[in-house]
Amino acid sequence: MTSSTSCSIPRGSYQKVVKRIQNIKYFAMSAKKRKYIEDYIGFGFVSLQRGDTEVPQCVICYKTLSNDGMRPSRLERHLRTSHPALVDKPKAFFETKKDTLKRAKLDDSGSFRQQSSKVVEASYEIAMLIAKSKKSHNIGESLIKPSILCAAELVLGKDNANKLSQISLSNDTVKKRIDELSQDIKVQTLDQCSQLLMYARFVSGNNIKEEIMFCHPMESFTTAEAIFDVISDFFQENQLSWESLVGVCTDGAPAMRGLRSGFVTKVK
Ligand SMILES: [Zn+2]
Repeated sequence: MTSSTSCSIPRGSYQKVVKRIQNIKYFAMSAKKRKYIEDYIGFGFVSLQRGDTEVPQCVICYKTLSNDGMRPSRLERHLRTSHPALVDKPKAFFETKKDTLKRAKLDDSGSFRQQSSKVVEASYEIAMLIAKSKKSHNIGESLIKPSILCAAELVLGKDNANKLSQISLSNDTVKKRIDELSQDIKVQTLDQCSQLLMYARFVSGNNIKEEIMFCHPMESFTTAEAIFDVISDFFQENQLSWESLVGVCTDGAPAMRGLRSGFVTKVK
């Protein structure tokens, strides 16, 4: 019904229509809201309060669904389509992610932290640099942050320095960030597909050298054909000739040493 037609409705019907709209409204307001159940963490979802409604939030990508999505079929669908590699993860895995999500939202006193994502990102990047340099965690608060603030105030002015002061580099934060980063690297590594590593031993001047040639993820299969194709492409791209290959050694994988169709047989 559009507003232009509503004007031409006789008075009696008009009141009926109003009554019906009120009924619909009442129905919508009393419509059952879906509630979070603890088991939903098994699909990687926690509950987020939005106004007076609960909505499910993914602990992996932080995406929220509508209240209507608060049911096993919808939560499972998100997990299967958005994070297929995590489908078989145990509940404990998502529990850990849930704690990370909570920590990201709350500061140490438990109150919400108003931080822009750039400030948080900077904190992670610097924590990564501290980890790589193998320096102690407190270098963030004892040296790095004072240095940043000092330089920023001199070069960029006080306002910009204030912005940078929001970068959290306390001893605890740096430790927390490094723990999260290493956990994330572990998960990514475990999720990754097989890698093909090739070393080459060659004559260089008067010496025999051994160097790693490449590390290539095997996206589909790890059959002899697939391995041969990858190496063949590498040879072509780098103008290497099969003729200059004198010998080949492989690990003991069946795809490598198979007598009839193994990789070595193909090379020969
Ligand atoms: Zn997700």
